[in-house]
Amino acid sequence: MRKTIVAGNWKMNGTSESIRALLDGITAGVPVVDGLVTLVCPPAVYLSQVKELLGNAPVVVGAQNVSAQPKGAFTGEWSLEMLQDLGCEYVILGHSERRSLFKETDADVADKVDATLTAGLTPILCVGETLTQREAGETLAVVATQVDAVVQRVGIERFASVVIAYEPVWAIGTGLTATPEQAQEVHAAIRARLAGSGMKVADKLSILYGGSMNAGNAAELLAQQDIDGGLIGGASLKADEFLTICAAA
Ligand code: PGA
Repeated sequence: MRKTIVAGNWKMNGTSESIRALLDGITAGVPVVDGLVTLVCPPAVYLSQVKELLGNAPVVVGAQNVSAQPKGAFTGEWSLEMLQDLGCEYVILGHSERRSLFKETDADVADKVDATLTAGLTPILCVGETLTQREAGETLAVVATQVDAVVQRVGIERFASVVIAYEPVWAIGTGLTATPEQAQEVHAAIRARLAGSGMKVADKLSILYGGSMNAGNAAELLAQQDIDGGLIGGASLKADEFLTICAAA
């Protein structure tokens, strides 16, 4: 009943040539299963190439970021209209790298989610705690604050069209994965909080896990009741590993 989404976040990696090879590998083995969405999020400069190479393959395309502004003097940015024009369906927003390296605040992220929903694309809202915050017992409070900032902006009804990715910052790119129990606890808490905020469809919301998910640990994570897919960085750059994760979903 909930959509399962396996999303590759390629970050700032790839060349025309390596992307062609990666997509050849993915399209050769991507499973077609009801309720499963396979998504790739390449660097923006390769979006149209990826869309073209995919043709009719059952893989959808997303961006890693977008401006909340409609158009104009914003050098280096791209708009939702441009993403629509290229056939993008999803946008990753509030990734911890955007928050820490590019100083995006909860308010910035809420603006982008709002604009993305208005444009009819699906935001993948990333939330997660740092190691210091986890060790201080603040995990659920941090994640709640990040989710609430967006709920307050877009309203609980519209939030039903958001996908959440819980990505503990200490697990991203580190090889340290949250245990299935740690991840499940946070996913269940997010869902319960949304239900408590008046979301009637909280049980239908897809909540993905991200942070060193790979071919070896995906099945165990994805078996958890409230884990509805993965946002995968490093392991999404290898077709066979990405496909193993898709198969586990
Ligand atoms: P990772 O990245 O799988 O390489 O840890 C996940 C992410 O940042 O989305």
